[in-house]
Amino acid sequence: MAQTDFQLMRQRMVEEQLKSRDIADPRVLQAMQDVPRHRFVPDNLQHLAYRDSPLPIGQDQTISQPYIVALMTQALQLSGHETVLEVGTGSGYHTAILCELARQVFSLERYPELADRAGATLASLGYENVEIHVGDGSQGLPDMAPFDAIVVSAAAPGIPNPLRGQLAEGGRLVLPVGDRESQWLERIWRYGDTWNIERITLVMFVPLVGMHGFSGAQFR
Ligand code: SAH
Repeated sequence: MAQTDFQLMRQRMVEEQLKSRDIADPRVLQAMQDVPRHRFVPDNLQHLAYRDSPLPIGQDQTISQPYIVALMTQALQLSGHETVLEVGTGSGYHTAILCELARQVFSLERYPELADRAGATLASLGYENVEIHVGDGSQGLPDMAPFDAIVVSAAAPGIPNPLRGQLAEGGRLVLPVGDRESQWLERIWRYGDTWNIERITLVMFVPLVGMHGFSGAQFR
């Protein structure tokens, strides 16, 4: 498929899946228009990259639906100067969107294979304001904290305490909280030692597997 075809598909994705819903932040819409999502999916699924759905990326994991990536990103309210932590690099697609919208992105993935592939894709697209780390993201990245924004793309049974603690003053954490079947997408704002929690919408994510997530025995 030609580059222009992908560009048109992306334009339609932005109109039909994002603007027609509740995505209005112009910077988020521009990033969704600019990042070539098809580069982050397996070759044989590239023609489906701009569909209104998640897609498999290997290791039993998925690249999130475009609308959900946009919704979570919009909720972070990025203006361009932030340091962001992402938990669950997966394909690296959401990472690329964050790189477009923040100053520096740290991303954590538990599967080295996914981290390697995402890193290679991001490098081939020229993103330099990102570091990918392999490890248990439910513990955050204490050495690089505090973060102005944290986004978790895997479902947690509760808000992991280390992530609360690694938020900067006025920082926000966006993550799905619930059980295996469904979760609330929540946004947590930190003000001193107070954390305000807002519920955004019901979602369904793969589990966050780790010390402050679900146990590895329950989910592979
Ligand atoms: N945002 C990604 C989708 C990620 S799917 C994208 O755009 O492609 C969720 C990812 O979280 C998976 O890759 C999974 O391996 C990872 N994950 C699950 N538990 C984790 C943990 N404790 N630490 C880091 N990554 C984790």
